[in-house]
Amino acid sequence: MKRLPLQQLDHQFINNDWVPSRGERRLAVTNPYREETIAEVSAGHPDDVEDAVAAARRALPAWRALSGTERAVYLEGFADGLARRRDELIRLSSTNNGKVLAEAGIDLDDAIACYRYYAGQARALDRRQGRLVELEMEGVEARCYHDPVGVVGLITPWNFPLVTSAWKLAPALAAGCTAVLKPSEVTPLPERALAEIALETRLPAGVLNLLFGDGEGIGAPLAAHPAIDKVSFTGSNRVGESVMRTAAERTADVSLELGGKSPILVMEDADPVQAADWVMAGLYFNAGQICSATSRLIVHETIAEPLYDALTARIDALVLGDPLEEATDMGPLTSARQRESVHAYLAIAEQQGLRAVRDASHRKLPERGYFVAPTLYRDVPTHSRLWREEIFGPVLCARSVASEQEAIELANDSDFGLAATVVSGDGERAQRIGRQLQAGSIWYNSEQLVLPETGWGGFKRSGIGRELGPWGLSAYLAVKHLVGPS
Ligand code: NAD
Repeated sequence: MKRLPLQQLDHQFINNDWVPSRGERRLAVTNPYREETIAEVSAGHPDDVEDAVAAARRALPAWRALSGTERAVYLEGFADGLARRRDELIRLSSTNNGKVLAEAGIDLDDAIACYRYYAGQARALDRRQGRLVELEMEGVEARCYHDPVGVVGLITPWNFPLVTSAWKLAPALAAGCTAVLKPSEVTPLPERALAEIALETRLPAGVLNLLFGDGEGIGAPLAAHPAIDKVSFTGSNRVGESVMRTAAERTADVSLELGGKSPILVMEDADPVQAADWVMAGLYFNAGQICSATSRLIVHETIAEPLYDALTARIDALVLGDPLEEATDMGPLTSARQRESVHAYLAIAEQQGLRAVRDASHRKLPERGYFVAPTLYRDVPTHSRLWREEIFGPVLCARSVASEQEAIELANDSDFGLAATVVSGDGERAQRIGRQLQAGSIWYNSEQLVLPETGWGGFKRSGIGRELGPWGLSAYLAVKHLVGPS
């Protein structure tokens, strides 16, 4: 097996072979803590897309003809392959993305669980094929089958490498689709393991093709390719909307996992100390670069002060530093560009005179690395861009409310609807409030548990479709019915 050196990523994985990219442009891959280039990746070329899509099309008939039970063996192979490389991949994710080791470990375990879960779903799919549909009409029989949608283009962002690709690749392969996967050019290193595992598990050639590159070199031509039957995209609204427009020109199916501006509601009967832990985990995890970040804190006015006090103590105690050090709580942002983007919001906060509990000047940052200090603004006006827009950094905005109804209305007053958390001393009440929120994932009295069996996806501008659970598999299946005399 040809194993490419880390520094040299000018090859693409097509038809089970590493072939030189047809593109000339190269992009630097950085270690955001050391601010050093650790690899050069090809920016890709539309001809790479041509080759990869052709390989995926050739592989489709034989792959879809396998039973789900046969395909499940390969999915278990991906889970085992990732598990064998667990330590290596944790360090690589941490080095390329800047996330701390413990968080990179959670990512790895999520990805492994996802491949295992869809191995089970692939087997279950066999049992679902040809099921009788209950009919009112007599003398007629209808059976339901699930076909793979075909060749799929999978495009992922940089904040959760290996996880966002697992959520797409695992169900796509389980369904019987063949795939062209494009990881983010910012964090392409961890996904390279998928090609190695494909070879190890003897995945048939062309079933998984992995293309490195940026939007121009790979993303846009992949989304526009006429032989791509479906595009599943996770990333920003700006790019997701362009992917949807492109797909619309050929009436191709799309799934979109986009941005968020999720609320965390802390009711007056909550324990402020416990609530503070959930607020911290919902926002400062991965330095705030989480699509489901609960970045709008909505707190009942009667416990606002003790909650702010508990949060202040926790923010001040966060250890910023080398993500590879066990003692570090928060690493740098993943790129200089992301840091600039967050700085622009902090400048707006200053211009608008927002009331800071902790602003960016409150702490000395490590000497190098794309760090942003964890910040907390309170009483943020609802018209402020900081309240309404996804910042994707460690910036928490808070407001207090006088009633449950006000909290619910404020939570739902957003263009987005990806996630939410409700904290209350009364679990029943927390669930009742949760049911009134417009979001795909709602946690009550809990940290953000992401489970392969439950769906993931957004209301409103947070996206279209669902990943994970049986819904994640359905995204890659076309339903058909055979109807005739019984
Ligand atoms: P991005 O939109 O800039 O890039 C995402 C991917 O699209 C990358 O692989 C990129 O190379 C590619 N791309 C760029 N231009 C393209 C084009 N014209 N056509 C096709 N592909 C193109 O997003 P990002 O900065 O990598 O990620 C951050 C965003 O992702 C945030 O908005 C975050 O909320 C979102 N996100 C959402 C979820 C979710 O589950 N809803 C999960 C993770 C991240």
